[in-house]
Amino acid sequence: MQYIRRCYVCGELFVTDNPNATKCEECKAEVREKQREKKYAQYRTYNPRRLHIPRAGVSECVAMVDKYNQEHGTKYSYGQYASLVLLGKIKNDRW
Ligand SMILES: [Zn+2]
Repeated sequence: MQYIRRCYVCGELFVTDNPNATKCEECKAEVREKQREKKYAQYRTYNPRRLHIPRAGVSECVAMVDKYNQEHGTKYSYGQYASLVLLGKIKNDRW
């Protein structure tokens, strides 16, 4: 069975076999690549003290997503918001 979905990153319609898909293949690959870069950038600059840099906690992040959704009339989930921040489509220095 094939499904037609609208990608929340680029807004294009795409056809997929996965009923839960929310991103088109290109955006999915882009998000994967960025996540990979982020992960390995951390390894390259390995410093035990870096691991203790205070970052926004999960409940604070969820609150930021809720605030963004209220202000912009969107319905992004945590994961959708996180990948949009990763791709630079949403500016958030605290993420
Ligand atoms: Zn897309």
